[in-house]
Amino acid sequence: MSEPNRSLTCPRCSAGMEPGYIIDQGHGTRTVPKWVAGQPRTSIWTGLKLRGLDQIKVATYRCRRCNYLESYAAG
Ligand SMILES: [Zn+2]
Repeated sequence: MSEPNRSLTCPRCSAGMEPGYIIDQGHGTRTVPKWVAGQPRTSIWTGLKLRGLDQIKVATYRCRRCNYLESYAAG
């Protein structure tokens, strides 16, 4: 799977959007959020059960004019 078109247009104001990403900052770690299909299943050990599930990194585009954010599970 490829990233969305780099010349994305903002759906709110039609200005250009720039690619980027949002970080999750934990205790001494920084990660990029990921998309997982289905409903979350909790685990008392790790918080969430993710074994065997595909995890797709999330790319987030930001509008240069109105600051609107739009996210894509870009693979
Ligand atoms: Zn905009």
